[in-house]
Amino acid sequence: MSEKIPYKIYLEESEMPRQWYNVRADMKNKPAPLLNPGTLKPMTFDELRPVFCDELIKQEMDDTTAYIDIPEEILDFYRMYRPSPVMRAYNLEKALGTPAKIYYKFEGNNTSGSHKLNSALAQAYYAKKQGLNGVTTETGAGQWGTALSMACAFFGVDCKVYMVKVSYEQKPFRREVMRTYGASVTPSPSNTTNIGRKILEEFPGTTGSLGCAISEAVEAATSQEGYRYVLGSVLNQVLLHQSVIGLEAKKALDKYGIKPDIIIGCAGGGSNLGGLISPFMGEKLRGEADYRIIAVEPASCPSFTRGKFAYDFCDTGMVCPLAKMYTLGSGFIPSPNHAGGLRYHGMSSILSQLYHDGLMEARSYEQTAVFDAATQFARTEGILPAPESSHAIRGAIDEALKCKETGEEKTILFGLTGTGYFDMTAYEKYNNGEMSDYIPTDADLEKGFAGLPKVDL
Ligand SMILES: *Cc1c(COP(=O)(O)O)cnc(C)c1O
Repeated sequence: MSEKIPYKIYLEESEMPRQWYNVRADMKNKPAPLLNPGTLKPMTFDELRPVFCDELIKQEMDDTTAYIDIPEEILDFYRMYRPSPVMRAYNLEKALGTPAKIYYKFEGNNTSGSHKLNSALAQAYYAKKQGLNGVTTETGAGQWGTALSMACAFFGVDCKVYMVKVSYEQKPFRREVMRTYGASVTPSPSNTTNIGRKILEEFPGTTGSLGCAISEAVEAATSQEGYRYVLGSVLNQVLLHQSVIGLEAKKALDKYGIKPDIIIGCAGGGSNLGGLISPFMGEKLRGEADYRIIAVEPASCPSFTRGKFAYDFCDTGMVCPLAKMYTLGSGFIPSPNHAGGLRYHGMSSILSQLYHDGLMEARSYEQTAVFDAATQFARTEGILPAPESSHAIRGAIDEALKCKETGEEKTILFGLTGTGYFDMTAYEKYNNGEMSDYIPTDADLEKGFAGLPKVDL
């Protein structure tokens, strides 16, 4: 093609996807169902109703419908910050001296600063449509809580966020963004729930954990009339909503006849990666095209690369259903020096099944290598990336450097999930040369595996 590919490939508003794509419809081996932790039987619609919104349960359990309409009300809000651009990283390519062509889909162009808004809007909308008063959730670093606060403000539903206490204290600005959008933010563990009071009694002075905040948010939802619990990653419904990332990316690349050889994304609970790869994976599953797909995770929280494929609890309080996934055990907590997010012990059931079936690869990086990549990216491409996103940048840079050795002109697409303005404490550590790496030993991991529930199916 003689036409030069532009730096930014935009779609017109009129070209935005009007349906989400459900990759489960094309999977031969479906992801395993959620199990009731009491009976170890698949959770039924009625069992899930006290916890989740009805429409979202339907989406969670739907393994067969390939395309699901995006309601017009959600599209109206998507239009305020979407379509998001696919960028050609010309300057990074030049700095690396690689013949590879690098593209990234940038999801940080909204105030919450990440892709999480794509699912937050859908979840707030379905809560509103069901006539609920509000939703509860947990947040660790704060991106999900921020996205949900925005979405709830748009649709006029109440939003109660349980924020891991250490983040509540260390990230006061995240907290204030959420409050500005009208959410109430409670440091977890708190004395507003039974489970919170119990944890505070047992461990006075604890700074909290994500698993504990999940348990509190679930209790707050199920004990109050007109409230439901919502989750920003891991679940099938969240991957479905995030498919808007991949659908837009594919359409934008198709416009210029570009076909990626390698698709790379960071993996925490798997929602951005699942969303980015969905339409490409669909083609791969249907035998229409082939792509190398790579998940990148922190070496300090290596669910894919060192975890077990097993049923596990989604939370520390063990109140949530069991999910079959690559997991480090619900008791696993990354070492305290881990700065970069992506600290969830498990992984999306969809991605876990695809990985198990050899349809995608995974690799892990130590955080100093991730911040090296973040810094190189910021200095060449201008965007200050979130530490989570920088795992994907590291993966893309390494693939581009391999091309430099072999002379191959591969096309790489990666997901740049967000910006890092609220993560400057981690950048400060890196800039001061005080960032260290800790890779859990096999013995560390065994402790987490010992807590896996015994499920025979
Ligand atoms: C939450 C988050 C992630 C990781 O979550 P996934 O569900 O794995 O996508 C990655 N990047 C950013 C910026 C995030 O906020």
